[in-house]
Amino acid sequence: MSDQFDAIVVGAGPAGISCAFELAKGGANVLLLERGEYPGSKNVMGGVLYRKMMEDIIPEFYKEAPLERPIVEQRFMMMDKESAVTFSYKGMEWGKEPYNNFTVLRAKFDQWFADQAVKQGAVLINETVVLECIVENGKVVGVRTDRPNGDVYADVVVLADGVNSLLAQSLGFHKEYQPDEVALATMEILKLDKKVIEDRFNLEDNQGCTIELFGDATKGILGTGFLYTNKDTLSIGVGTLLSGLIKHKIKPYELLEYVKNHPMIRPYIQGSESQEYLAHLIPEGGYHSMGRIVGNGVIVIGDASQLVNAIHREGSNLAMTSGRLAAETVLLAKQAGDFSEKMLDHYRQRLLDGFVGQDMKKYKDSTHHFDQNPHYFDEYIPMLNKAASQMFTVDGQSKWEKQKKIWKDLGSPKEKMKMARDMFRAWKVVK
Ligand SMILES: Cc1cc2nc3c(=O)[nH]c(=O)nc-3n(C[C@H](O)[C@H](O)[C@H](O)COP(=O)(O)OP(=O)(O)OC[C@H]3O[C@@H](n4cnc5c(N)ncnc54)[C@H](O)[C@@H]3O)c2cc1C
Repeated sequence: MSDQFDAIVVGAGPAGISCAFELAKGGANVLLLERGEYPGSKNVMGGVLYRKMMEDIIPEFYKEAPLERPIVEQRFMMMDKESAVTFSYKGMEWGKEPYNNFTVLRAKFDQWFADQAVKQGAVLINETVVLECIVENGKVVGVRTDRPNGDVYADVVVLADGVNSLLAQSLGFHKEYQPDEVALATMEILKLDKKVIEDRFNLEDNQGCTIELFGDATKGILGTGFLYTNKDTLSIGVGTLLSGLIKHKIKPYELLEYVKNHPMIRPYIQGSESQEYLAHLIPEGGYHSMGRIVGNGVIVIGDASQLVNAIHREGSNLAMTSGRLAAETVLLAKQAGDFSEKMLDHYRQRLLDGFVGQDMKKYKDSTHHFDQNPHYFDEYIPMLNKAASQMFTVDGQSKWEKQKKIWKDLGSPKEKMKMARDMFRAWKVVK
């Protein structure tokens, strides 16, 4: 094997595979390096894959990719200790081509996706850790791996090494992330009979449901839980900012056990068997935590550049889009024979001008705002549950009396003003 490539992509997650696929398709000689035994072996995701961004790379991929279920219903549960206010959208249009989203298991999906990149001509080498970038005269010219004689060279190195991106950090592109910039998520894959899943979630064959859990699922810490249907397994998990876990002295696996035993969740998973236990960090610092993403001979994509929209639990789609845009830029750079920062900056501009940058900017203050104001989760969600319980309990009181009581329970005029202000501030950070 040659030790000189047009491009080296580090990390075979959705970002790196998308980039390698597009580069190989465009005729570039590309090496994809992955530290895991195979792509997906080290990767963790609740499991919602977004059809549109994947189709921008492989049209009609859903006809052959190993997908679990097309999602036809999205539920949102606002949980208190023994109750939940739930709202949802279910639409039959999502169960038909071209579909909206799918649940996936990353260990299967990433392998399949990487195979497609290899079919386009990318060279994939697993079980290889990239230790550092090789820098000469201020330009990244290759990478040092943990293999004997493991230096490989390229015109451009694409860093897709995920959330901490020690490689970008060692280039000085970002600082070490702080506990309030990353969430720690733990999840389990639970085996359950296919028919039982369909009965419990009110689904037909080849239909899926996602449930996002707020409030008591995280014991009021900023974060969310989730419960997703796969073919014959369920994915259940919970993620909170690391700073919240530290402050509340809660261990992540205790939180997952708490969610699994919650009376609103227990009936869904009863009788299931644990198949896999996983934990991973999620970059949640948002736009303010994004470091430098372009340098001479180097581009950073996906989680490595903090591209996660925590409000909408989107990450894989931003990763894929960034990988595709990076590849398009590298192909232009190859044509021009120019891999300088100035040339590669085209990637940064397109990323920030498109939906990825726009969404990152839209929610730039949201993590910080909700982290600083935990009462949205530990006060207002219980209040909502209490109000629903009062209103819907039939006990001989008139509805006028009930409304009056609910209004009184919201507190003094000063407390009501504070709540109205909070709602306005919440609207401002997500508008
Ligand atoms: C619990 C959980 C639930 C989530 N749910 C969703 C969801 O439902 N929908 C969604 O869109 N997103 C979700 N996300 C986010 C999503 O998983 C990420 O945004 C996405 O995986 C980012 O892709 P990536 O390719 O940038 O990074 P990754 O998927 O992390 O891939 C990085 C790859 O680089 C490899 N690597 C790292 N360092 C090196 C090295 N030095 N040398 C060689 N290889 C290296 C790793 O082994 C890995 O394969 C979730 C995340 C978590 C943790």
